[in-house]
Amino acid sequence: MGHRASLHLGTAAPTRAMLHADVETLPREQLADLQLQRLRATVADAYRHVPLHRARLDAAGIAPEDIRSLDDVAHLPFTQKSDLRDHYPFGLFARPVDQLARLHASSGTTGVPTVVGYTAGDLSRWADLMARSLACAGARRGDIVHNAYGYGLFTGGLGVHSGAERLGAVVVPVSGGSTERQVQLLVDFRSRVLCSTPSYALTIAEVAERLGVDLRASALEVGLFGAEPWSAGMRSEIESRLGLHAVDIYGLSEIMGPGVACECAARNGLHGWEDHFLFEVIDPASGEPLPEGEAGELVITTLTKEALPMLRYRTRDITRLASGRCDCGRTHQRILRITGRNDDMLIIRGVNVYPSQLEAALIGRPGIAPYYQLVVERRGTLDHVGVEVEAQAGIAAEAHAAIASDVAHHIKSMIGITTEVRVRATGEIPRSEGKAVRVRDLRPKVPV
Ligand SMILES: [Zn+2]
Repeated sequence: MGHRASLHLGTAAPTRAMLHADVETLPREQLADLQLQRLRATVADAYRHVPLHRARLDAAGIAPEDIRSLDDVAHLPFTQKSDLRDHYPFGLFARPVDQLARLHASSGTTGVPTVVGYTAGDLSRWADLMARSLACAGARRGDIVHNAYGYGLFTGGLGVHSGAERLGAVVVPVSGGSTERQVQLLVDFRSRVLCSTPSYALTIAEVAERLGVDLRASALEVGLFGAEPWSAGMRSEIESRLGLHAVDIYGLSEIMGPGVACECAARNGLHGWEDHFLFEVIDPASGEPLPEGEAGELVITTLTKEALPMLRYRTRDITRLASGRCDCGRTHQRILRITGRNDDMLIIRGVNVYPSQLEAALIGRPGIAPYYQLVVERRGTLDHVGVEVEAQAGIAAEAHAAIASDVAHHIKSMIGITTEVRVRATGEIPRSEGKAVRVRDLRPKVPV
């Protein structure tokens, strides 16, 4: 252990080298030139090979040659998740399926999966970007990387896996589940890097504590957490219990998978890799582009994807962009931490609320553990939010009422909404082994 003894705080930012320093620090004018050249090629390719894009561009009266500046992207039609479902399985691909190297899919709530495809070149660029993200977070060649993202059709597991291999790290493809064994392997293999959802990182911490294993004393130094929105409170909770430096990573299958953007040591937003993607923020209601710094829906256009080029894909994620100088020296735009998904937004008596805001208000309140569930119901014409929290171990049942009242008051003062808080006994809130399910929406479904 030696040098680790003084690192028990665990949150000191590891020194990190840029993997692609030339492109990561490219002056913004040169980055813009590169983006324009790649945008024109992507639009031309999508027009030529994807009937949906061609029909929409024709309807909008736009020819690929009309793209003369990056601002012209605002004239392109949007693409959304329903387009992938409507053209299931391969209708949006720009290459014949026999020229692809891999397919991934995610199960949608409506039953029709979203299918994405990659050429060998796409997979190689994905590995590059994921390796760049890992390095940006503080991982290095030779590190043992414990990859607890789910393997399979979900892009998380294999995406991180290929990036870690490309970096020259040693991957442990453990996937989700069997948490006791994961704790054992983390210790025995001396893993320096943990990749998982933030909620699963907390599950690992809890199981380790139950087993009497102090992961703060392990070799873990860096955590890359993503695939669900998480709060600053959750970050400090994970850091203090696992003894590592926790970094936010962003990606989505429709665009590539993990590695679209990643935080650097400054942790002041996630650098979105602009040599491969064009980022915009729009007003989700009107579709109009918003000035930099204003909060709205993140829209991404791919610039190098061959199998599945995406024009102005509406991510449903709500965020802000910043392109000012970053302390790390990278010039790529920063996506400020995702507040939540438009789909997850709750309108509670006229107030827009994201589950992550409730999380921010909950984590760290005295007497409660960092596990929660939101139950949304319709009572009459109004939405009603029940918040189920869990008492910390050793808290007597008689104290539950006072804790519930404290939490409800705190939520009211932080967010301005009235909630009904129930304190459950230790262990009663389900634990995450992947993406956490934290909202139970019992409101009647509006027929589509
Ligand atoms: Zn930076």
